[in-house]
Amino acid sequence: MVDIKSMTLEELTQWFKDQGEPAFRAKQVFRWLYRGVTSFEEMSDLSKGLRQKLKETCILTAPKVARKQVSQLDGTIKYLWELGDGNCIETVFMRYKHGNTVCISCQVGCRMGCAFCASTLAGKVRDLTPGEMVDQVLFTQLDSGEPISNIVLMGIGEPLDNFDTVIRFLTLINHPDGMNIGMRHISLSTCGLVEKIDKLAEYGLQLTLSVSLHAPDDETRSKIMPVNRSVGVDRLMDTCRRYFQTTGRRISYEYAMIDGVNDSDWQADRLAHLLKGTGGHVNLIPLNNVEESPLKPSRRVAAFQKRLESHGVTVTVRRRLGSDIDASCGQLRRKAMRQDNG
Ligand code: SAH
Repeated sequence: MVDIKSMTLEELTQWFKDQGEPAFRAKQVFRWLYRGVTSFEEMSDLSKGLRQKLKETCILTAPKVARKQVSQLDGTIKYLWELGDGNCIETVFMRYKHGNTVCISCQVGCRMGCAFCASTLAGKVRDLTPGEMVDQVLFTQLDSGEPISNIVLMGIGEPLDNFDTVIRFLTLINHPDGMNIGMRHISLSTCGLVEKIDKLAEYGLQLTLSVSLHAPDDETRSKIMPVNRSVGVDRLMDTCRRYFQTTGRRISYEYAMIDGVNDSDWQADRLAHLLKGTGGHVNLIPLNNVEESPLKPSRRVAAFQKRLESHGVTVTVRRRLGSDIDASCGQLRRKAMRQDNG
């Protein structure tokens, strides 16, 4: 079976040619896919015969809403989607002044093992397909009835650990006959897989890269992020500098503030030192409590911000959206898993 929503328009065109169909059918079908049809029957300008043939040879993915929570505070919507094989993933819809933003997942679970993150607690189950990533944007837009203009790859999973899929997803979502979302409206967040950051740089995409730094020293970072045990902070920062030089795109460094772990003044000083010459800015994230984790939110966010700013670093503090609906990564999926397991 062909996973039709994971194909580019060019591949679809070739596929139709191979089937002895005219090439323009590809564009017709591509457009239907991005209107969010859930069956081939709905493709009303195709012949019955062709619709039947597509049904027999292609998979048309369409996730089902397993749970949906709407924040009473700020209108954030959190979706738990059930995929074709019964696995669940999360997508969050957020309203910002600069446009509606959707935060999507790229894997079912995660194998990176960060100590503060709910997504990784039960490991990785599988990678998502490009089509399943597209579906999150598409069906969130359809279900919410709100246009989506920005995408952040900051949901469940590590995007650079599912590299080819993510690149293909970017190509699809960017396509003028699809959702036509510009690269400058897309952010990709990584825990810092250096070889993959170098590989991404070669594509020269205009997206925003966010690096989850979370600590400026190897001792602390290795404690909370296993990925740091093989590649230390220095090599990560060299890679980031190289990324900036190659692409001209400034990197945003994410820093989740954890009580007594990474929130002291000396760490702010060292962080500022690390960022010299990188052009990057820091996004401080108030830690979201994860029930299974002993790590607690820092009470020093403002002080840490001031200290960084005193060194000339640009700092933003992430606004908490949907805090009444478990809106941060992996929390809703965890909750559903706990409840399903009794
Ligand atoms: N795997 C990617 C993207 C997914 S997580 C990455 O590591 O960047 C998106 C961001 O949320 C990351 O910066 C991640 O470290 C952060 N995060 C995860 N759990 C968190 C929590 N409990 N509180 C605050 N931020 C968290």
